[in-house]
Amino acid sequence: MNILVLNCGSSSVKYQFIESDSQKTLTKGSVDRIGMSGATLTNKRHDGDEIRIVGEIVDHTVAIEYILAVLLSRNHGVINDKSDIHAIGHRVVHGGETFSGSVLITDEVIRILRENIELAPLHNPHNLRGISACEVNLPNTPQVGVFDTSFHSRMPKRAYLYGIPYSLYSQYKIRRYGFHGSSHRFVSHRAATLLGRDINTLKIITCHLGNGCSMAAVDHGVSIDTTMGFTPLEGLLMGTRSGDLDPSVILFIMGKEGISLGEAGTLLNKHSGLQGISGISSDMREIETEMQNGDKKATYAFDVFAYRVKKYIGAYAAAMGGLDAVVFTGGIGENSTLIRKACCENMEFFGIILDRERNESNAKEKVITTDGSTTKVIVIPTNEELVIALDTKQIVKELKAQPA
Ligand code: ADP
Repeated sequence: MNILVLNCGSSSVKYQFIESDSQKTLTKGSVDRIGMSGATLTNKRHDGDEIRIVGEIVDHTVAIEYILAVLLSRNHGVINDKSDIHAIGHRVVHGGETFSGSVLITDEVIRILRENIELAPLHNPHNLRGISACEVNLPNTPQVGVFDTSFHSRMPKRAYLYGIPYSLYSQYKIRRYGFHGSSHRFVSHRAATLLGRDINTLKIITCHLGNGCSMAAVDHGVSIDTTMGFTPLEGLLMGTRSGDLDPSVILFIMGKEGISLGEAGTLLNKHSGLQGISGISSDMREIETEMQNGDKKATYAFDVFAYRVKKYIGAYAAAMGGLDAVVFTGGIGENSTLIRKACCENMEFFGIILDRERNESNAKEKVITTDGSTTKVIVIPTNEELVIALDTKQIVKELKAQPA
């Protein structure tokens, strides 16, 4: 089954066209700068063919038109007819409390997603725009929503309730939701496969370290806790987001500097994290380079980042009452030998003994602890698009199996 996987942001649409039986990506790309001058589509086909088109891409509907034109293009495409797209899978950021799994998109689902906009004002409106754009361009193709939050939907109350009046949870649904669910799900299952064990027997901590960063405690296949919260701001230090912070800090700054709610949001989401501490960059590669050049603030940023990951490894091992494996994924988790080393140093008491050569090897997927380590540390490239494609396939298959 051919699945078009879409991740619609405010001014971009990332896509992959996946043949879900062979799990092969036939072509992928992105449309960037939607609604701005210099809007561009870039596409890379599985055989290496690349194309870049600059156009008047005024909105998401036009972006989807461009994507379809490339998929169908004689020279750069992979299909002959729109009907060769059998289903569309959307990454949807926030499923709220309603969606504990992926769903076929119906009018009712769209209504609930609209209701949830308040919970994810930065993401869900664009996801909805992508869904409408597909309705216009591919009206007869089934669409499926795969939520970032749903893998965490079985967290116990003790992990998701905040220490604020319960009425605020009842009234506004203020609680921990967690994000990056497709990634945590993919790498925890892949880790079980690599360890040759059933996921239902394992206690795994997954660390998704990219521009956004989160960790999850995956106990017997269930995410029982995760670092991101009501929004993707809580938890680990990130590229430009603060992560954990005493809430009084922001009240204090608002009082001192007279900044507005919106400015406070921008400060915590856009000017904090690695960028905020280092004053250099939100990009871990630059932080590492400047740290090696002796820059003090880059070193502080690196240290805070690694220390927080390590602290949560301890917390989640305690929450699960044991630990079989720690998984690193995301741009930093997959590529930074220095971060992995710093997070796993002096963890012998946890059964973690890092193997220097394995940590530094070029293999993309690898166990980086010694054979004698009782807790394995594994690097696994994430593949959220594949999770979306496989969920979409499953739901469309069930739909077709239903009597008309
Ligand atoms: P996103 O969350 O936007 O998908 P990625 O998962 O691609 O982002 O992660 C981006 C982060 O990965 C950046 O901080 C980047 O510096 C970091 N990164 C990529 N390659 C390396 C590397 N070789 N060493 C250290 N950090 C890296």
